[in-house]
Amino acid sequence: MPVERIQGVHLGRTAAEAEEDVKKGVLLTSLDRAVSWARKQSMWPVTFGLACCAIEMMATGAADYDLSRWGMELFRASPRQADLMIVAGRVSQKMAPVLRTIYDQMPEPKWVISMGVCASAGGMFTNYAILQGVDTIVPVDIYVPGCPPKPEMLMYGILRLHEKVRTKGTVK
Ligand code: SF4
Repeated sequence: MPVERIQGVHLGRTAAEAEEDVKKGVLLTSLDRAVSWARKQSMWPVTFGLACCAIEMMATGAADYDLSRWGMELFRASPRQADLMIVAGRVSQKMAPVLRTIYDQMPEPKWVISMGVCASAGGMFTNYAILQGVDTIVPVDIYVPGCPPKPEMLMYGILRLHEKVRTKGTVK
């Protein structure tokens, strides 16, 4: 099994010395980094598909792309068991308060991915009925461009989010 090197963990050790320690089965880290690593390895998205982008999101979780490789195949039906919201599709003005309620019901820490140009900026729907960017009602961590983004693009966004959580996460 390949060894995952975490930057800054092996303080005061050369890379070769650290490599030797890992071979012996010893790994030193801080609580912050260990918790962040565990969080990014078990991120559970809330089931929340809004439009055509949701089809690509579902495909990402299916067998061909297999999100379970990163411990996140479980789309939770309850926001209370989820820590990631993938906003997949345009958000109507009517849906906005519902989306915000679901976000509020998710426990901390939690993250948001805006999937597709509609969720990020309204897309082609420049009209009064559609929210011109979901970041006007919830904080967005990662924006995935495209109409619709392919599963590979969503996966790339998810992996960037994992990286962000692993390197910048703090114990709350
Ligand atoms: S970005 Fe494209 S695929 Fe996604 S919801 Fe908008 S129109 Fe549909």
